[in-house]
Amino acid sequence: RTGELVIVDGKQGQVIIDPDAAQQFRYRQERQRQEAFTTSLRELASEPAVTTDGTDIALYANIEFPNEIPTALEKGAQGIGLYRTEFLFLATDEPPTEEQQVEAYRKAINALGGKVLTIRTLDLGADKMMHAPDWEEQNPFLGCRSIRYCLQHLDLFKTQVRAILRASADGPVRIMFPLISNILELRQAKMIFNDVREDLTDAGIAYGNDIPMGIMVEVPSVAIQASIFAKEVDFFSIGTNDLIQYTVAVDRGNERVANLYSGAHPAVLALIKNVVQAGTKAKIEVGLCGEMAGEPEFVMLLLGLGLRSLSATPPAIPEVKKIIRSVSLQQCQRLARKALSFDTDREVTNFAREEVRKVLPEAFD
Ligand code: PEP
Ligand code: MG
Repeated sequence: RTGELVIVDGKQGQVIIDPDAAQQFRYRQERQRQEAFTTSLRELASEPAVTTDGTDIALYANIEFPNEIPTALEKGAQGIGLYRTEFLFLATDEPPTEEQQVEAYRKAINALGGKVLTIRTLDLGADKMMHAPDWEEQNPFLGCRSIRYCLQHLDLFKTQVRAILRASADGPVRIMFPLISNILELRQAKMIFNDVREDLTDAGIAYGNDIPMGIMVEVPSVAIQASIFAKEVDFFSIGTNDLIQYTVAVDRGNERVANLYSGAHPAVLALIKNVVQAGTKAKIEVGLCGEMAGEPEFVMLLLGLGLRSLSATPPAIPEVKKIIRSVSLQQCQRLARKALSFDTDREVTNFAREEVRKVLPEAFD
């Protein structure tokens, strides 16, 4: 109620209502400690994300709105690895027009001042619903969401692709398709992209020359067939938020089974490893943009599995960069080899956390 004191502990996922004096004291101290840690990381923003042995790691930010870009850059991101455009569509009852989309994408490109913007096409459905009364499904996460919805609503999809292409005349853009589960879907999406580009050429409308085209790897079928997909795209971005839920059959939003949802599950690690190997062999960039990329305990493990590109929520970037700059690739590879020998996610997480704790104890205090 108004006037009541509440502590929100976002790290533990706890809310303490009407805390006693001892709890207040403890949390004030914790807040001071966290603020001091954040301040100490501020100077890293302009430093590169490079391991102690000199390996460069691309460190990008995930955003939902262009106005998050200044913060992302302030935190030290070298570009945007995931722009979730569906939030533009969720903010209003009617889908935004082509002009409104061009304006939003241009705003993002201009805010980046020459740094790359990875635009993900509409990922609507399941937990991200537009106002559509006829959109009732029994299993929406397995239903008509994301690229599937776009390929069934070509006007909507083409309008977005056109807006992305038009905006790309202003600066470096990459385009990325979400929830691809089948190579034919990818080919269809690419065909539409090419058709829209031809239309623009015919109409004499400008667009960027070289737009790398990638996919989110977030369905196990694609992770398993990664070597096939690698021949047809310019980059992979592993979406562990969905990849985990589809691999272990756990709804990512259901707290009753949240204990079973873990990126450290050995089956998830095996899929990530397969994607990295396939991408590396085909000489395409393999990034990871799920929440895992911003969780300190997984940074060394992911580098050890071969990832050289991570995209995380802006507030997590300084800490991730600090860890990257404190470790050698050899240390990470050793950790990953051991992690892959465990049978359970708990062993993996505990081990990975202890190894990171050795280099950055503040991350887990
Ligand atoms: C993912 O699935 O990991 C991802 C980054 O996409 P989203 O969280 O938007 O589904
Ligand atoms: Mg996803």
